Amino acid sequence: MPTEIKLLKGLKNILENEISSNFSDKSIKYGLEKALAVALKQFPLWNGFWTQKVLDLIKDYSKRTYEERAQAVVRIKDIIERAIEFYTDENFWEKSVQFAKGVGPHRAKLLNRLEIHTIYDLITYYPRDYDDRSKLKKISEIKPGERVTIKVKIIDYEETKTLYKKIPIIKAKISDNTGWAYAVWYGQKYIKQVLPPGTELLISGEAKRLLKHIEFENPEYETLDEGEDKEFLNVGRIVPIYSLTSGLTQKVLRKIIYDALTDYSIFLEDPLPKYLREKYNLMDKPVSVWEKHFPTSFLTMASASKRITFEELFFLQLNLAKKRREIEELSAPVFNIQSELVEKFLGSLPFKLTKAQEKVWEEIKKDLSSGRPMHRLLQGDVGSGKTVIAALATILAYDNGYQTAFMVPTEILAEQHYNRLKNIFEPLGIKIALLTSSTPKKEKTYIYLDLAEGKLPVVIGTHALIQEEVTFKKLGLVIIDEQHRFGVIQRAKLWKKGEAPHLLVMTATPIPRSLALVLYGELDISIIDELPPGRKPVITYLFSKKERRKVYSFVEKEIEKGKQAFVVCPLIEESEKLEAESAKKLYEELKKFFPRFNIGLIHGLVPREERTRIMEEFQKGEIQILVATTVIEVGVDIPNASIMVIENADRFGLAQLHQLRGRVGRGSEQSYCFLIADLKGENAKERLKVMVETNDGFVIANKDLEIRGPGEFFGTKQHGTLDVLFVDLTKDMKLFEIARNEAFEVIKNQNERIEEYEKVLLNKWLNKYLRGELKEIVL
Ligand code: ADP
Ligand code: MG
Repeated sequence: MPTEIKLLKGLKNILENEISSNFSDKSIKYGLEKALAVALKQFPLWNGFWTQKVLDLIKDYSKRTYEERAQAVVRIKDIIERAIEFYTDENFWEKSVQFAKGVGPHRAKLLNRLEIHTIYDLITYYPRDYDDRSKLKKISEIKPGERVTIKVKIIDYEETKTLYKKIPIIKAKISDNTGWAYAVWYGQKYIKQVLPPGTELLISGEAKRLLKHIEFENPEYETLDEGEDKEFLNVGRIVPIYSLTSGLTQKVLRKIIYDALTDYSIFLEDPLPKYLREKYNLMDKPVSVWEKHFPTSFLTMASASKRITFEELFFLQLNLAKKRREIEELSAPVFNIQSELVEKFLGSLPFKLTKAQEKVWEEIKKDLSSGRPMHRLLQGDVGSGKTVIAALATILAYDNGYQTAFMVPTEILAEQHYNRLKNIFEPLGIKIALLTSSTPKKEKTYIYLDLAEGKLPVVIGTHALIQEEVTFKKLGLVIIDEQHRFGVIQRAKLWKKGEAPHLLVMTATPIPRSLALVLYGELDISIIDELPPGRKPVITYLFSKKERRKVYSFVEKEIEKGKQAFVVCPLIEESEKLEAESAKKLYEELKKFFPRFNIGLIHGLVPREERTRIMEEFQKGEIQILVATTVIEVGVDIPNASIMVIENADRFGLAQLHQLRGRVGRGSEQSYCFLIADLKGENAKERLKVMVETNDGFVIANKDLEIRGPGEFFGTKQHGTLDVLFVDLTKDMKLFEIARNEAFEVIKNQNERIEEYEKVLLNKWLNKYLRGELKEIVL
C-alpha cells in the first residue's frame, strides 16, 4: 500500500517539523490538528482505531500548554512510526515478543514458556482470573478478614527476623487520616529502599487482625508519586491475574501487557465483519482486548469475553465448514455393501449386535456406498463394542478390494487389537499385519512392500503408520481408535495416504454436543448408546490410604475364588522412568503381601516381547495380579479380570478413571473397582464420589469437564483457548449456535464475502492461531 506509506511518511515529517519549531503550531498551514484530520481521512475505516487515537491526542492542540503539546506530538509520532511499520511489515503481528516494551531477550524466554512468542500472543494472553481491588476503603472502615485496597502513607519501619530460618521481616507502619495499620513483607529487604518513610501508596490485600491492629501480609502495592496520569495496574481496580512461570511476577507481566496494549492494540484489525458485529451487538476488537485485560467493570469484561469467544468460534467453525465442503466435493470409493464375507463374519460372532450397533453399522454402510468420503466419529462408552464395528467396516473394504489402515495410540492396544482381529480375519482369509515402532526392521520392510503392492489388505499399528515409508496401493478405509489421543495433523497424515479414503474415528470419551461440534465439527457423529446385554455395572468403592490393607484383603479373597485383578499406579508426568520405578515399588510390595500369587508388572519401559508374554499369561489366568501404569488405560480387553485397584486415584481425572475402570466388567462376573486416594485434598472426596455413584461415562465426562475444564480434560497444556471457549459455551450455548450458523451460512452461500474471509483465514496471525492452538491440542 504505497500511498498509505507515503502519506504516513509525510505526516512523520510534519511532526518532526513541529518538534523543531518548538510546538508552535505554525509548522503547517491551518495548524496541526486540521492537517492530521485531513490526512487521516485517507485511511479506510477499519483502521479507525489508531487514527482515532491520533485524533483524540491532537484535539484542541492550538489551545494547549507547551508541555501538553510536546507530550501529544511525541506520542503521535510514536504511533505514526508504528503505523509505518504496520503497513510495511507483513509480519507485524508475528514480531518476536522480545521487541515489546520492557521485555528483552531474558524475559522473552520466560514468556516463551507460557507459549507467548509473538506480540500478538502477548496481547491475547488473557487473564485466568481477576481480583476486584476497585473499592477503596479507609483504615477505620476495614473489617478483619476482608480483601481491601487502601490509600496510605508509610510512617516507619521495624525490622526483625523469623525464628528459625532467619528470614528478614520488614514491618511498615502505615496510616491514612482515619487510623493506622501494619504492612508486613517477608524476605523483601529492598522494600525499605523502594518505599522510604513518607511514601504515599495504594495497598491491596487481606486485612488480618493481630492483637489490636490490622495487618497485611505481603500485600500488593503501587506508589502514587510516579507521574500524574499514571494508571494503576495492580491496585485500585479490577486487576487481571495471569498464569505465570517462575521468574515472572504478576506485576511485571501486567506492566508488559499494558504497555504492549498501549503500543499495539490500536492496530488490531477486526476480522469479524461489520454486519455480524452490528447484528449481534459485539464489541470492537481492540476494545474487547483491552477490556479483557484491564476491565473497567465486570460487565464490560463479560461483553469483551463474549466478543472474543464469538470470534474464535466463528473462525473455528468457518474453518470446519470449509473443510467439510472440501470433503463433500471429493469422490470416494463406492463400496458394494452386499457382502457375503460380512454376513459370514456376523454369523460367526458368539453374540448378536446390539440395536445401537446395528444402527451405527447402517449409518456407516450408507456412507461407504455414497461415493463421498465417510468422515464419521463413532462415540461409544467403554465396552460398548466399537471394535466389532471397525472390524465390519474393514471386512467390507476388503471385500470391495480396498486396504484398511487401523491406527491406535499405544503399542499395547495395537498388539491386543492385532491379536483379536487376527483371530477374526484369518478364518475369512484376510491377511493382517502389526506395525509399531518396535516391529523389527526387516519385518517392517516387508510390511512396507506388501502394503505398497497391495498384497496386505489390513495393517494395524501406532504412529508408525504415519511414517513416510508407509504407502498403500489402494487405501480405502482409515480407522482411528481412541481418537482423542491423536492430533488433527496425525489423523490427516494417515488419511492423505489414500485418495480420499473413508475415515472412521472412534472415541470412548463422551463429550457434550457443543464441545463435540467445536472439536469435531467437520465430522458426522454416530453414537452407540447401549452396552451389550448382561453387563453388570462395576461396583466401585472409595478408600482412604489408611484403609489400603482392607482393600488388598478383599482382593486376596476374590483371587482365591479364581478372579484376577489389575492394580494401577499413576502416571508420572514427563518421566517414564519415575513411573516405571513407582510401578516396580508397588509390584515388590504386593509380591511380599501376596507370596502365593503370581504377579505381573507392566509399564512403558518393559520390552515388547516381555510385555506380550505377560499379557498372554494374564489372559490365560496364569498371572493373578497385574501391576500396571496407565499404559493399560485404553482399549485393553481381558474379560476374566474383574477387579481394578487404582492407587492414588485422586491424581487421575474422572474420565481417565472411567477408562481404567472400563478394563473390568467385561465378562459376566460381578466386577469391582477400588479407588485408593488421599481424601484430604481439595474436593478429592466429592470428585471421586462421582465414580462410586455412577457408571455412566457421559455423566462422568461432564462432571470432569466441569471440574477441570477441557484443556486439562483433553490433556493439553495450551494456554486455554478451549477453556475460554468452554466456559463461555456452557454459559452461552446460543452464542455458539449463532457463530456456527453464521459460519456455515457464509460457506453455503459461496457469496463474494468468502474471499474476504479466505484472506482473513490466511492472514498470518489467524492462521497461526488456527494452527498453533488447534493442531497442538491432543484430541
Ligand atoms: P469398546 O467400545 O470399549 O472398544 P470393545 O469393542 O472392546 O469395546 O468390546 C467390549 C467387549 O464386548 C468385547 O469383549 C466384545 O467382544 C464384546 N461385545 C461387543 N459387542 C457385543 C455384543 N453385541 N454382545 C455381546 N458382547 C459384545
Ligand atoms: Mg476399544
